[in-house]
Amino acid sequence: MKSTLIIGAGGVGRVVTHKCAQLPETFGKITLASRTKSKCDCIAAEIDYPIDTVAIDADDVAATVALLNQIKPDILINVALPYQDLTLMEACLEAGVDYLDTANYEPKDDPRFSYEYQWPYHHRFVDAGLTALLGSGFDPGVTNVFCAYAQKHFFDEIHTVDIIDANAGDHGLPFATNFNPEINIREITAKGRYWQEGEWKETEPLEIHQAFDFPHPEVGTKDIYLLYHEEMESLCKNLNGVTRLRFWMTFSKNYINHLTVLQNVGMTSIEPVDFQGQQIAPLEFLKSVLPDPASLGPLTKGKTCIGCVIDGVKDGKRLQKYIYNVCDHQEAYAETQSQAISYTTGVPAMIGAKMILDGHWKKPGVNNMEQNDPDPFMEALNQYGLPWEVVDGAPFLEQLQKHNP
Ligand code: NDP
Repeated sequence: MKSTLIIGAGGVGRVVTHKCAQLPETFGKITLASRTKSKCDCIAAEIDYPIDTVAIDADDVAATVALLNQIKPDILINVALPYQDLTLMEACLEAGVDYLDTANYEPKDDPRFSYEYQWPYHHRFVDAGLTALLGSGFDPGVTNVFCAYAQKHFFDEIHTVDIIDANAGDHGLPFATNFNPEINIREITAKGRYWQEGEWKETEPLEIHQAFDFPHPEVGTKDIYLLYHEEMESLCKNLNGVTRLRFWMTFSKNYINHLTVLQNVGMTSIEPVDFQGQQIAPLEFLKSVLPDPASLGPLTKGKTCIGCVIDGVKDGKRLQKYIYNVCDHQEAYAETQSQAISYTTGVPAMIGAKMILDGHWKKPGVNNMEQNDPDPFMEALNQYGLPWEVVDGAPFLEQLQKHNP
C-alpha cells in the first residue's frame, strides 16, 4: 500500500487531506503533520478515512528525516509555508522521498521569493532518482499547465501570456486575506514586475491597473492589478519564444484602502521593532490580529476565475485563446470545509502528487509544472473538481491592450 505524508495543516493542507482521502487507491495510508498537532486532529476528525496525525517542526531537517524514515512515505506534499521548502527538500533527499510544493522558497528575512534557491537542487534529485515538483497549486501550478497545454495543442508559437486571477468572492468582513496574511501582504506590497522582450520591467506596487470584463457573468467586471508572480520566472524559460508575460490579480477598492492605510502606518513592514522590550515584526503582529483565512470558509460566497489569455501563431495565422477555471466558494466549502482559494490550491497539489505516484510525472530532478506532459493533469482537473473552459481569447486580449507596453 502507498503512503503519503502531508506537511502543513492550514487552509491548503485541509483541502489536500480531504482530496487525498477521496482516492485511497492512489494515496494509501495518509499522515498529516504540522507544527500544531491539534490542527491536524481537527482536519482528521472531518474526514471519514483514517488519517494519522503528528507534530513536526519542518524547519528541523533531522526531525523531519526521522519522521520520513519512520513513516516511509512515497511522497511528501509540502503545504506548510514557503520558508520550509529548502529544509523539506533536504530531508527528502536524505530519506529518499519524492517532493512536491505549491510556492517557491522565500527567506523569512528577505521577501524575494525565487526558484533560484530550489533549482540548484536539480542534480542532487537526479542523482538520487527522486522527483521534486515545484509550484503545484493554481497560480503557480494550473496556470503553468494551461500554458503547456496551449503550447502542445493550440499554437506553433506563443508570443504573450496574461495570467489573470479573480476572486469575486465576498466574506462580508471589513478586511481579511484569503490565504496566509503574511505571505499574501508580502506579495502585494512588493514592486510589480513583468517580462518583456527578454528582460524584467519593474513597476511601483499596484501601479498598473485597469477594469477587466471576465467571461463568467457572476464574476463580471473587476479592477485587475499588475503584480509580480512566481510562475513567470519559470515560464519565461520554458515557453519557447514568449515575448511578454504579465500577471494580474483583482482587488476591491475596500481592500486597497485598508492595505494603503496599514502600509502608511508601518504595519506591513517585516523589519522588527522594539515593543516594550520585545522585538516584533509588525507584519507578523498584524497576522495575529487579522481573521484566520480558515475561518472565512463558511462566510465566503461567490466565485473565483483564474486563467491565461494567450496570443500566438498557428499554421502561420495569429490566434488567441483564453483558458480558465471558475470555482465556487460555497461548493468548495461543502466538499472540503475550505473556501475556493484553498480549494484551487489544494486540488492541484493532490493532482500533482497523483501524477508522480501514477508515474505520469515521475521524472528525477527538480521540475516546474510546464516541463511535464499537460494532458493527464488537464484531464484530472476536470475529474477532481476544477473543470476548465477554452474560449476565443481575442476580445479579452483586446481589453488588455490598454496597457500594452
Ligand atoms: P496557512 O498559514 O493556513 O497554513 C500553513 C500551515 O503550515 C500551518 O498549519 C502552519 O502551522 C504550518 N507550518 C508553518 N510553519 C511550520 C513549520 N516550521 N513546521 C511545520 N508546520 C509549519 O497557509 P495556507 O494553507 O494558506 O498555504 C499553504 C501554502 O500554500 C503556502 O506555502 C502558500 O504560499 C501556498 N499557496 C499557494 C497558492 C498557489 O496557487 N500556488 C495559493 C495559496 C497558497 P501552525 O498552524 O502551527 O502555524
